[in-house]
Amino acid sequence: MYDVIIIGAGPAGVSAAVYAKRGGLNVLVIAKDTGTLEKAKKIENYYGFKSITGEELYRNGLEQLKHLNIELVKDEVVQLNYTKKFEVTTVNNVFESKYVVLATGVSRNVPNIRGIKEFEGKGVSYCAICDAFFYRNKNVAVLGSGNYAIHEAEILKPVAKSVTLLTNNEKLVENRDIDLNVNEKKIREVRGYDKVDEVVFDDDTKEKVNGIFVAIGTASTNDLARKIGARVENNNIVVNENLETNVPGLYACGDCTGGILQISKATYEGTKVGLEIINKIKNGKK
Ligand SMILES: Cc1cc2nc3c(=O)[nH]c(=O)nc-3n(C[C@H](O)[C@H](O)[C@H](O)COP(=O)(O)OP(=O)(O)OC[C@H]3O[C@@H](n4cnc5c(N)ncnc54)[C@H](O)[C@@H]3O)c2cc1C
Repeated sequence: MYDVIIIGAGPAGVSAAVYAKRGGLNVLVIAKDTGTLEKAKKIENYYGFKSITGEELYRNGLEQLKHLNIELVKDEVVQLNYTKKFEVTTVNNVFESKYVVLATGVSRNVPNIRGIKEFEGKGVSYCAICDAFFYRNKNVAVLGSGNYAIHEAEILKPVAKSVTLLTNNEKLVENRDIDLNVNEKKIREVRGYDKVDEVVFDDDTKEKVNGIFVAIGTASTNDLARKIGARVENNNIVVNENLETNVPGLYACGDCTGGILQISKATYEGTKVGLEIINKIKNGKK
């Protein structure tokens, strides 16, 4: 079991990992890709660099992890649980730790489909493990086309009457041996009266569903927070002054906590989280 698992290898995650490791902790970093830095083509306001690309800075961060012998797993986290210890599930594995740090960047996986926002909490859900229970023997759809969508569909399958993957014109992720209904048509809107009733496609066909689980792309920060009951407000994870969420032992840092969405703020918060967890472990609080 690790002392701490850090999800994300951007400025926040790497800073947290560097401090935690140098403080003597057993650290694992899990990250799926370059994150927001991929889009930052020219950074000219970060201390010590006249100009650097986001890609370069990310690669430097990974080099720093390697230099300190910090374990890095390149994988996508799809589930987060707590029962006496944290369990972090990726597409390929399950890892355990005493503490978890969300350093997953900003959340933005709400699809721009008419009806989705309107029916949130009335048939539209963002968490299969949280809400599957409400859809026993009902017809549900999962909206998405990647590993995360398949993971959510697999949770729903034993509970719901039927589960259909709606890819909304995207190609379903390859190399998966799955037994699910798949509908790849483009979605026009989600309709219902006081709750979700049907999905209407661009070719005027319809699919009757009682619920839609949104799982587009990768599990976003908000998705992961919801799975474990961490409070989210205005798309940001709510943390106290020590950057701990309302779930004891679960911390968040960087863009996912909101405020100034800049590298300097992400590295500061990563540093603070690393030091906080060292203190907790050294004082035997967990
Ligand atoms: C176009 C653009 C230009 C910018 N220019 C600047 C600039 O000039 N100066 C500046 O200071 N800031 C700039 N920024 C902002 C800066 O990039 C962010 O503030 C910073 O990257 C935030 O760091 P972070 O570690 O919080 O998140 P990120 O850098 O987004 O890192 C998130 C990490 O989490 C991982 N992750 C997310 N979900 C999962 C999951 N489910 N499973 C596994 N891993 C996951 C990602 O793969 C990634 O490794 C810019 C941003 C954009 C979009």
